[in-house]
Amino acid sequence: MTLRVAIIGAGPSGLAQLRAFQSAHAQGAPMPEIVCFEKQADWGGMWNYTWRTGLDQHGEPVHGSMYRYLWSNGPKECLEFADYSFDEHFGRPISSYPPREVLWDYIQGRVKKAGVRDYIRFNTAVKNVSFDEATREFTVSAYDYSAGQGIEQVFDYVVVASGHFSTPHVPEFEGFERFAGRILHAHDFREAMEFKGQDLLIVGSSYSAEDIGSQCYKYGARSITTAYRTQPMGYKWPKGWEERPQLVRVEGNLAFFADGSNKRVDAIILCTGYQHHFPFLPDELTLKTNNRLWPTGLYQGVVWEQNPQLIYLGMQDLWYSFNLFDAQAWFARDYMLGRIKLPAKADMQADSARWRADEEALDTTASMYEFQGRYIKHLIAQTDYPSFDIDAVNRIFLKWKSDKKSDIMGYRDKSYRSVITGTAAVPHHTRWLKAMDDSLAEYLRETDGKKGEVKALRG
Ligand code: FAD
Ligand code: NAP
Repeated sequence: MTLRVAIIGAGPSGLAQLRAFQSAHAQGAPMPEIVCFEKQADWGGMWNYTWRTGLDQHGEPVHGSMYRYLWSNGPKECLEFADYSFDEHFGRPISSYPPREVLWDYIQGRVKKAGVRDYIRFNTAVKNVSFDEATREFTVSAYDYSAGQGIEQVFDYVVVASGHFSTPHVPEFEGFERFAGRILHAHDFREAMEFKGQDLLIVGSSYSAEDIGSQCYKYGARSITTAYRTQPMGYKWPKGWEERPQLVRVEGNLAFFADGSNKRVDAIILCTGYQHHFPFLPDELTLKTNNRLWPTGLYQGVVWEQNPQLIYLGMQDLWYSFNLFDAQAWFARDYMLGRIKLPAKADMQADSARWRADEEALDTTASMYEFQGRYIKHLIAQTDYPSFDIDAVNRIFLKWKSDKKSDIMGYRDKSYRSVITGTAAVPHHTRWLKAMDDSLAEYLRETDGKKGEVKALRG
């Protein structure tokens, strides 16, 4: 009987799974019966920007956490697909830190070429997944908003690729209910211009805090104050940006911090991270973890040890991203196709425990991306995913960190060399701090002033 596979989500992880199956099929492997359920109207997951916040047009929680003017916060050379290079997609070298729409275009290029769109059921939200121990089959229940009807389908495997940067973690601070301004979580942040001329308080000290603060600074906020709970970010911030210790309470418009200081602020953005949230899964199938490099319960970081017919993709904290999802998707594919055999449950758990112990011993930033690089190498060695120079990627991460340390507002103007094609990136035509239009057309504009002929440039 043909293998039946459900994929939940058509973001980079779910699309990697589709591409993995298609690439094996192109070499003669049977194609399973695949349904990729996607609640949004288009593919690309987070990279498919939406202006909406709260609930979408169907009453579903809005998935997107990306905002206008978002540029990649890591070099594209660290996430390049090993089987579909930036050169192949754009037909010429581009810069190392493209804006969101450019990366979305790149993600789409590979799956358009693979011809896998028809496997995706758009506007269809998965509501429930159950497993029958007797038949060893899953039943996936979903609601198809295009058809206006609920559906139920039976599968041998379920691949959860629904992302983990969508459901916000929203702490409350004393006085919030009387704060005389806007309070929002990063998940609902869309337009930096909203905060032009304002004194902005950002709670958190990780990537969202750094990047949303940078956007708001770039688009004209009067001042940025970021409040850290554990550690300051410690960059050389531009004039008008300061770091303070943890927010303790607010009184009217005054924010009070752990060092006893206070500051008047107009708005507060909580950049306090996200929750792994799977409302469609029963408790016994639910991954419970914080945002970390080695969540427990997943053999090789993907196979649910308590029920190996369930697979999770992309659930780790991310240094690597698109190529990590690929390595996982290829491994998951070969396991589902019967090419990779799983050890006994106790051995899977012992293997995971070793990875976890290694993860817990990591003590430097470099050791963290090297750990994730080692994990990717380990997965790739088990499949035919094209191997690439992960040590070279680690060296780019190192350079990226030092570029940020020396110039947090200018690091996106730096360029690196692709480890896939050897092509050196070219500096963008406009410095990041001055580049206000983040559209694909503006990005690809030739420097002689002509608007880029986007289609013609794509090989
Ligand atoms: P997602 O992209 O989140 O896709 C999950 C998909 O599942 C979505 O399409 C969603 O609609 C769908 N889905 C969810 N629930 C259901 C359901 N019940 N039924 C049907 N479909 C469902 N990474 C980088 O490498 N570089 C960056 O610069 C970068 N910037 C980021 C900026 C922000 C603000 C955020 C939040 C993340 C950023 N990331 C970045 C990380 C980003 O999450 C990954 O690059 C990538 O999008 C993860 O892919 P995914 O497919 O695992 O999840
Ligand atoms: P995150 O990395 O998980 O960080 C969460 C932050 O919230 C940490 O600083 C944490 O502080 C803080 N926090 C949590 N609870 C808190 C509390 N009660 N009080 C004070 N602080 C609290 O989440 P993130 O920054 O949202 O990043 C998520 C993902 O989005 C990352 O993969 C990132 O790369 C991506 N991202 C990318 C871009 C871009 O590419 N341009 C922009 C934004 C985000 P502690 O350190 O004390 O735990």
